[in-house]
Amino acid sequence: MSVLEEIKKQVGENVDVVAISKTKSPERILEVYNEGHRAFGENKVQELAEKYEQLPKDIQWHFVGHLQRNKVKYLAPFVHLIHGVDSLRLAREINKQAEKAGRRISVLIQAHIAKEESKFGVPSQDLERFMKEIDLERFEFIEVRGLMGMATNTLEQQQVQREFKELRSVFDKLRDMNWNSDIRMQILSMGMTGDYEIAVNCRSNMVRIGTKIFGAREI
Ligand SMILES: *Cc1c(COP(=O)(O)O)cnc(C)c1O
Repeated sequence: MSVLEEIKKQVGENVDVVAISKTKSPERILEVYNEGHRAFGENKVQELAEKYEQLPKDIQWHFVGHLQRNKVKYLAPFVHLIHGVDSLRLAREINKQAEKAGRRISVLIQAHIAKEESKFGVPSQDLERFMKEIDLERFEFIEVRGLMGMATNTLEQQQVQREFKELRSVFDKLRDMNWNSDIRMQILSMGMTGDYEIAVNCRSNMVRIGTKIFGAREI
């Protein structure tokens, strides 16, 4: 059994595995593709756009990095899911570029749950307010599909578990609210190589795994 098959078996069929292929060559990605896997993720726009050109068109490309507004246009024609929406200005730009590309783009709202300083992500206590702002905009070309979060990079499992549980409970609350626009809270993207088991225990239903599938990154 390949590592990827083992991971899939371990997390169960209700959890989607996104293979994070950043820094890995198209050849290496094709090997995993040829096992039948279709969901891959990248965190740099240019790298993703190049790989999109080079690789089979039925790959579902996830963008998991920090997305700058001026680069949305390069992804809009093909991206499957953008994991990191954390500002209205970014959401507006995605909506605009999606309209130009003649398609709707699915996005996740990025939550900031880690103790680490980070400029990215909406703090959990502000998620509801942020979602209401998004809802008011009535975006025609964006579908909000759920939340994404990264736990603190620590070996303290209790800490990681606390953060994932916190996000899960905000997710449950937001999912059960009534939204006016196209907001369907179905996806909770949390868990990477070092913490996906904890994440799945906290009922994550999408894990983003790089190192365990592809080996360590050189850069
Ligand atoms: C790189 C990355 C991952 C995968 O990390 P691994 O530890 O290699 O599994 C997951 N999510 C995001 C946002 C990343 O940038």
